Amino acid sequence: MNGKTVMACIDAAYAALKEHTDEIASLDQQIGDGDHIFNLLRGMEALLAVRAEIEAEAFGPALDIAATKVLSTVGGSSGPLFFSLLNGMAKASVTNAMDVGGFAQIFAAGVEAVRQRGKTGVGSKTMMDVLIPVAKRFAELAAESAAARVVLDTLPQIAEENMLATRDMLATKGRASFLGERSRGHIDPGARSSQIMIASVCARLAQRNG
Ligand code: ADP
Ligand code: MG
Repeated sequence: MNGKTVMACIDAAYAALKEHTDEIASLDQQIGDGDHIFNLLRGMEALLAVRAEIEAEAFGPALDIAATKVLSTVGGSSGPLFFSLLNGMAKASVTNAMDVGGFAQIFAAGVEAVRQRGKTGVGSKTMMDVLIPVAKRFAELAAESAAARVVLDTLPQIAEENMLATRDMLATKGRASFLGERSRGHIDPGARSSQIMIASVCARLAQRNG
């Protein structure tokens, strides 16, 4: 795990988000202002533009560069939230090993940073409804000494189930909360984009894991 791995994950997430542009745009048109996917793609394109810098670094510093770029380019509510995720992970990578247990802790630290920034947990119809259950399951798998292959197969399933569950939730945070009851019946765009990124990153890492 190093800057090259980080960049390979960014490439995978970018390709997957790009493929779902219309769908995510339409989700955010229904319960937000439609900009979510475009905010994200702008951020990802800024990361692609500093590929050489990211690839030259070790894992933590590579995430740090990505975090700073995301903060200055993504905007919206999700910019500072994804900054917190990457920055929280970068900080935790200093004290954790590059193995399943270490990555479970690194991811959990990133998600905790998002929770503190966004001041919300599960149930308010946001990306947290995907990130928190995935971090929790990751920690459980690490505690059971699960193989990397099992982790990479399981986490996308957890992400998908929990993304789908946002459909029936009432939004109580962010722009969608202004709609009250009318927010029900639509999947949260941030939950969908997070789930897509988790699925594509896990698939890419599973390839490398052979
Ligand atoms: P904006 O709502 O400012 O237009 P975006 O469209 O980029 O920002 O992002 C919207 C997404 O951000 C939502 O779908 C939701 O998942 C997420 N979000 C909004 N507020 C919060 C929060 N307080 N905590 C976590 N996620 C949030
Ligand atoms: Mg929006």
